Amino acid sequence: MNKNLPIWFPLKRELDPGQSTFEKSEWKKLIFARTDTLGINGQKDFRRVKGESFGEYEDRAKDEILSHKILHLAVCLNPRYSAWLIQNEGDLFSHRFIKAKWNEKIAILDFLYSSPDLAKNWMEFDELTSFLKEDVMNKVRVIVPRRQRKRSARGTVIKIDDILGNSKIVAINYKYVPFLLKHRRVVIYRGWGIDSIERFSASIKHRFEKLLNAELNESAAKLENSTTQLRKVVEEMTNLLSGLIKPQTRGFGLSDFTIDGDFDAHLSIYPPCIRDLITTVEKVGYIPHWERFQLGLFLKKTGMQVEDQLQYWYSKAVDNIGLSYDEFVKRAGYVIRHIYGIEGGKIDYEMPSCTTIQTKMYCTFRHSGIGIIEENLKLLAEKDENFTKENTAEKIQKVVELTSRGFPNQACAAHLSLYKSHKLPQIKHPMIYLKIAGEGSGVLRENSDDDLAQAPKVED
Ligand code: SF4
Repeated sequence: MNKNLPIWFPLKRELDPGQSTFEKSEWKKLIFARTDTLGINGQKDFRRVKGESFGEYEDRAKDEILSHKILHLAVCLNPRYSAWLIQNEGDLFSHRFIKAKWNEKIAILDFLYSSPDLAKNWMEFDELTSFLKEDVMNKVRVIVPRRQRKRSARGTVIKIDDILGNSKIVAINYKYVPFLLKHRRVVIYRGWGIDSIERFSASIKHRFEKLLNAELNESAAKLENSTTQLRKVVEEMTNLLSGLIKPQTRGFGLSDFTIDGDFDAHLSIYPPCIRDLITTVEKVGYIPHWERFQLGLFLKKTGMQVEDQLQYWYSKAVDNIGLSYDEFVKRAGYVIRHIYGIEGGKIDYEMPSCTTIQTKMYCTFRHSGIGIIEENLKLLAEKDENFTKENTAEKIQKVVELTSRGFPNQACAAHLSLYKSHKLPQIKHPMIYLKIAGEGSGVLRENSDDDLAQAPKVED
């Protein structure tokens, strides 16, 4: 671990031995502490306060990291809480990153953009000249605040010595800033995006969130294979969060639905993300953990019973080859039984919103390639009888354009217009898409309270 990394930086921090076993009262305190810090009125800055010794300051930092790690454990088995954590930790990181000193920023960027082959993925602008073996300064034009300008032969380049370095010009490998490059928001030169740290701040935050998400996935996978005792403690922690993290309110009735007939006979009323996941399971036989959770929840929320879903995953997934059905149910069936609230914390999970899906799972318009989306839509225009017959090319173009501009929810609303006329500017929840797409189809029924009361209870 780079010694210049600021004391508050939470990724890949190892806990001290002995910090991993806690009494309930201790972990509760730590969870409250971190949710407070992440909350609206939380203390966002982390610096040494007047009269505090360095030892005290270090102890305070250790407590912060510990509370981050415990909250991380508490959320990792729940997609909505995980997405909440990623967004809020991302905001906190961004706030502190901008205020960090330049040597700390260097250490953070080295950490965020390190790669296993030790390739350089970011550097200060001056370094780019020797890295590319050419005088980049005289080839690119980078705009910086007037007070910090220094003229070069062909453009305006920089000489900035401020202590935080937020206006320093850096170069980041194009792979890590695709959105900025696609929209020409930064200067591009030979595979490098070039601009000030301030300009890159959203991309740097995004990179932090991505790595945090990977750590959460790792913890979730470990917990799935861990002892029941440990999982029970984590589930208890997760339950505590239901009082602390409120669901976003929805201005739309989103009760459960039942789809009559075979679940794969009515794909054209499904949201695009769900269709893509079903296709991938069919073709590849595998989707990652959270995507399985997303599809599993959707199938549950549209009326599939637990036994049918177990059979579905048993018959499709390649990692079941060689397993008997009973072995499968024991080993891999946990996640599915968990979705139905039969295992674990016995939570009746709601279908996640598009924001949660875009952060933690799979959204067609956030995670699929534009070329693939366009190709699929053209195929559907030929084959799908429910597809619009009016202004088809124009409507497809609108979906493609909104996706490429980085507006997934609006792109999804435009996608829905390919099947149904509606007035929604954006789709915020997959069940809203389903509800509108399925109206008048005769196969989608919204469950009434009576249906829900009569629904068979699942035995533990
Ligand atoms: S916007 Fe929502 S419903 Fe549409 S594809 Fe993305 S996650 Fe699915």
